[in-house]
Amino acid sequence: MSTTHTTREWQAMDAAHHLHPFSDMDGLNRHGSRVIVKGEGVYLWDSEGNKLFDGMSGLWCVNVGYGRKELADAAYRQMQELPFYNTFFKTTHPPVVELSQLLSEVAPEGFNHVFYTNSGSEGNDTVIRMVRHYWASLGQPNKKTIISRINGYHGSTIGGASLGGMDYMHQQGDLPIPGIVHIEQPYWYANGGDLSPEEYGLKAARELEKKILELGVENVAAFIGEPVQGAGGIIIPPTTYWPEIQRICDQYGILLIADEVICGFGRTGHWFGSQYYGIKPHLMTIAKGLSSGYLPIGGVLVHDEVAKVLKQGDFNHGFTYSGHPVAAAVAAENIRILQRENIIERMNSDVVPYAHQLWHDAFDHHPLVDDVRTLGFFFALTLVEDKSTRKRFANGGELALRCRDICFRNNLVMRATGDSMISAPPLVMTRSEAEEFVSLAKKCIDEFARELGRL
Ligand SMILES: *Cc1c(COP(=O)(O)O)cnc(C)c1O
Repeated sequence: MSTTHTTREWQAMDAAHHLHPFSDMDGLNRHGSRVIVKGEGVYLWDSEGNKLFDGMSGLWCVNVGYGRKELADAAYRQMQELPFYNTFFKTTHPPVVELSQLLSEVAPEGFNHVFYTNSGSEGNDTVIRMVRHYWASLGQPNKKTIISRINGYHGSTIGGASLGGMDYMHQQGDLPIPGIVHIEQPYWYANGGDLSPEEYGLKAARELEKKILELGVENVAAFIGEPVQGAGGIIIPPTTYWPEIQRICDQYGILLIADEVICGFGRTGHWFGSQYYGIKPHLMTIAKGLSSGYLPIGGVLVHDEVAKVLKQGDFNHGFTYSGHPVAAAVAAENIRILQRENIIERMNSDVVPYAHQLWHDAFDHHPLVDDVRTLGFFFALTLVEDKSTRKRFANGGELALRCRDICFRNNLVMRATGDSMISAPPLVMTRSEAEEFVSLAKKCIDEFARELGRL
């Protein structure tokens, strides 16, 4: 498909000059990167002309699918009209105003303000500064510590990676920064022992209460969590977890921050994951699905309760590209597409129940996998040594990477996280595409199970 260079040439130039994020560069360069040249709907094409099913929506972001001419047109129009202007010094521009208005329409009640960034990581860095500034403005400058979770993912800037609970990230560069502490993640399959999921959900949530009491509530600013952990492996908390977290935040008067970077804009079958769980956060970090990944844009949705304090004076924070007009125009059009095509309602009433059923039919009784889980357009399973005892593989991470390579060879993009195989397809996946997706996934897991002598 690409006419200017052969695949080998692209790979050689890539290996010579491009440092990839989160990649073992040595291994990657020995095999060569796969060169992706085109996308349409739920599909990608590589430079060899292979058609792939994108079970990851790019990187959890291409919610409305590839190839949307409306989004390209919105960018083109805005670039010609006003490619850039800032919003720092008493100015604004139509795209950023329109997007802000639209966001307050689709966000839960009370979210009428937004602060813009270019990414989810910057959104969470903004959150750190915002909550500290909020408490300082209320005369409580010591309320600074943010409680987060082990294996949470909040981005890769110094602040984002510190909020995140990824050990392998903390090990590089002396993280986390002071004032961020981590508690257990609500991962029943791994940590629940003999408790029922419901009992365990309460226990995991009460780790927050314990930590608040240990630190002293006068020192605690906020709790942050993803409604469903994405990069951590699509970890769906027990139903009791979030209501108990809400109770604890309310009781101790700390701010609740929902990192909606993945869950936002339809992934859970609601506009926001917080709505799925019925929680009422003070701040919501957004990015990814905000523009369906067509241009980089993120932000923080701010509840009135916090906004009224922030609006009383200066907040000395912002990015050159905060509310970039082209990105804002694309994000606004992306939201209009979600609205116009009723994508979220359509998912819920049609493809979601159907695709969940297909996934469970394919894997519930599969000898190699357990903890088969679905929620909205999240699909996941865990490779296990023995289902009857929830015994996991000692080398589960390595096995999952091998399984991912099988998927990739079979033109299915799924991700391996720990010992889980995870997927989050574009929200426009149809019934017949869901059939194709699940049967491809089944074929790959079967192939791997045969390789391991488990089928
Ligand atoms: C991807 C992600 C981020 C970071 O977003 P970037 O745009 O990569 O900086 C933050 N939080 C969550 C939950 C994410 O999935």
